[in-house]
Amino acid sequence: MSEAAKTLEPLINIQSEFARFEHFAKVLLDAYVLVDMEGRVVKSNTMLTQLTGLKTRQIMKADNLDGIITFEVDNKALGYKNIAHYDTPIRIDEVRGHVAGKDKEEDTLNLILGVYPFLNPKTNEKLGFFLLIRDVTAETNLQGQYKDKAIQSITDPLTTLFTRAYFEEYLSGQVTRMEVLPENERYPISIVMCDIDFFKKINDKYGHQAGDYVLRNVSRIMKHTFRKTDVCCRYGGEEFLVILPAANFENAGLAANKLRQAVQDEVIIFEDTHIPVTLSCGVSTIMIGQETYPEAMGRADAALYESKHNGRNLVSIHDGAKIVGTPRT
Ligand code: GH3
Ligand code: MG
Ligand code: MG
Repeated sequence: MSEAAKTLEPLINIQSEFARFEHFAKVLLDAYVLVDMEGRVVKSNTMLTQLTGLKTRQIMKADNLDGIITFEVDNKALGYKNIAHYDTPIRIDEVRGHVAGKDKEEDTLNLILGVYPFLNPKTNEKLGFFLLIRDVTAETNLQGQYKDKAIQSITDPLTTLFTRAYFEEYLSGQVTRMEVLPENERYPISIVMCDIDFFKKINDKYGHQAGDYVLRNVSRIMKHTFRKTDVCCRYGGEEFLVILPAANFENAGLAANKLRQAVQDEVIIFEDTHIPVTLSCGVSTIMIGQETYPEAMGRADAALYESKHNGRNLVSIHDGAKIVGTPRT
């Protein structure tokens, strides 16, 4: 080929390669940028100006894409050089976007990126990439709000334990699951019912605020004492219920005694005053297929009554036939 013929060959660059998509890109509802291998933005749409709040002039003046917007995935920075690395089209979810000059946390954008690399069709050499930037900040915030609301509805505000409504929903769900299983595949579900001793006196002597403080402290101890898989709930006032999946009444009794001991040992100080606190517990294991969960709760309640009757700061177990006390270890 002569030198003259060579110069007549059309120039291949990212703009020439993108030309055939241009009219298609016009109807895109997301922001996009077309970026060459030096990171320069050679094309963008008005959606990008909306997304970034930057003027087209500012966008075109930037040395490279990183001077306009930077990205972050899993706390790792994703600059134009990283994006240019992709050889094949890729979608990247859960991207955080930071617009240049907007460093505040509330300005962070939640994005989905679509990367489309452009190659020279003759040499396969990389020319740059087309980057689609979808802003999902509003949707993400909305999802967050729904999640917060859902968590709120099952969380007791004073103690941050689960609510009574959640307790019932969870327990009935567990029981239904067990009931349909063959007997050899079932696991036991135990309930521990706890009630703070002479709580009325605590309120009367130290004040309602002190009473609330005691409730929060007992709840914190409960969370630490029981397993992650156990479900601790505030059933009402100063009464708590714990669901222990896969624990028989002996093991549930041991766990309840651990809590009883921990509450007794805790030094609770409210406004420079030490408030001695103890609690009593009743334990039962649901007899799947033979009783309903409220009946099992009734047996735990009867055991709790026995603990109160026998002097408080005690754990009693209803074993299905009778109530047995446990020694304070
Ligand atoms: P017992 O050892 O027999 O359980 O005696 P008790 O005094 O703990 O039992 P009682 O049921 O007579 O009293 C419970 C008290 O709990 C009465 C109520 O005012 C108080 N209470 C209920 N909810 C709250 C709360 O959210 N905060 C405070 N501070 N007190 C509460
Ligand atoms: Mg009570
Ligand atoms: Mg009480």
